[in-house]
Amino acid sequence: MVASGPQAQTVRADAAVIGGGVIGHSIAWELQRTGRKVVLIDDAPGTGASWAAAGMLAAVSEYHYQEEELLDLMVESAGLWPGFVKVLAQNAASATGYRTTPTLTVGASAADRTALLDLRRVQVERGLGVEPLTIREARSREPLLSPGISCALDTPGDHQVDPRLLVAALREALGRHQGGGTAVEGALHGFALPDRAAALIHDGGRIAGVRLSGGGEVLAAETIVANGLQAGDLAGLPEGLALPLRPVHGDILRLRVPEHLRPLLTATIRGLVHGVPVYIVPRTDGTVVIGATQREDRLAGTGSGGTASGTATPMAWTAVSAGGVYQLLRDAQQLVPAVAELELLEATARARPATADNAPLLGRVGSAAGDIPGLIISTGFFRHGVLLAPVAARICRELADGEPDPRWAAFRPDRFSGDRPPPAAARPSRHFPLEHQESR
Ligand SMILES: Cc1cc2nc3c(=O)[nH]c(=O)nc-3n(C[C@H](O)[C@H](O)[C@H](O)COP(=O)(O)OP(=O)(O)OC[C@H]3O[C@@H](n4cnc5c(N)ncnc54)[C@H](O)[C@@H]3O)c2cc1C
Repeated sequence: MVASGPQAQTVRADAAVIGGGVIGHSIAWELQRTGRKVVLIDDAPGTGASWAAAGMLAAVSEYHYQEEELLDLMVESAGLWPGFVKVLAQNAASATGYRTTPTLTVGASAADRTALLDLRRVQVERGLGVEPLTIREARSREPLLSPGISCALDTPGDHQVDPRLLVAALREALGRHQGGGTAVEGALHGFALPDRAAALIHDGGRIAGVRLSGGGEVLAAETIVANGLQAGDLAGLPEGLALPLRPVHGDILRLRVPEHLRPLLTATIRGLVHGVPVYIVPRTDGTVVIGATQREDRLAGTGSGGTASGTATPMAWTAVSAGGVYQLLRDAQQLVPAVAELELLEATARARPATADNAPLLGRVGSAAGDIPGLIISTGFFRHGVLLAPVAARICRELADGEPDPRWAAFRPDRFSGDRPPPAAARPSRHFPLEHQESR
């Protein structure tokens, strides 16, 4: 390290990871376990979309018509989850909230039933495990489900994790491996640099690191751009590279279940209520998460957090929509009437980093001379960033090792750039019935 004052600090590392959401932390952890020295740059880690996420690992339930490559990626990642949490548990005492409880999908109306059974036909054609239950079977498993539901489907392979706990556990593991969280290099705390990335540093034809808004720099063999929606704002991105990210806002609620109603549910409930999706995710701590709206409005935030209960998150502020909260509580109560008796703890909103084809921007970036060395992009995870974290981490590690898996070339981040013909994953897709874009 060369340092001539805090503003001019130069840190050298094997890998610089820009962005400390669930994606950046997972990549940093995977790279660190190969023996690399990793620096993770974020002055507000864990406060972006990852702060809001329900943590459903729903490769099957989140399948959308015609998104076949994305389905492959989701299924691959779902298969990595048990090993991912096992290794993490060996390196961090903090729990992750990972649970292998199943998901039940239920409909409210006859039309919801038709839509869900149509979707199931396609899911089964793709080899995905979704089994119909009678209403009686569903209610014997989940007695607080409304007797008025129109159908129930069991998806045993869709599980859950608690994203806030997960990020905390990843930070603990990263800290244990590299400096234990102590100030080892000026502003660098172990693996963590609480600063913002301002610009990529170019050195000839390669990316050599990142310049920080605080004045310092990180020089690294690999720079991984994993700062979610803000990825396109970095100065010095390769010329002509378009990272077309757009915010899709979501409102989400956290509620406490009173003792006499516990457990409210044992499975995650995903519902379709007159065409509008809603889900209820039960946690082990006696709370449930109810989400999530999807809106592309520009409801301005005027507070200090995007969390109605007041957690301060300066950069990620998204206003909570009153209509969104109303809709979530209304629809969740229709499926599980006892929701009306819960204590509302928190209403949060965040923006999902979405792309035109709903698939991530993940991989290296091409130039006339071939792929640009030293640069990996990993963003645009939209509704699936928690589910996809282990596979994103593995793909970045394979790229850093010089052993890219050709199966994932369809997700190249430069697929929207220049005159390149869009690969298969960039085909426009039809939304499936649970994908309801609401305008509230
Ligand atoms: C309401 C809601 C519910 C969701 N539910 C689920 C779910 O059940 N399952 C699922 O798989 N996914 C879910 N998602 C999607 C998931 O949350 C996202 O896909 C995922 O969190 C994206 O992670 P990320 O690390 O890319 O981005 P983020 O979590 O947004 O993290 C980006 C980080 O980059 C940092 N940053 C920004 N700019 C800079 C800079 N210049 N320098 C340094 N750092 C910077 C920010 O501070 C932030 O910490 C949900 C999303 C929402 C909004």
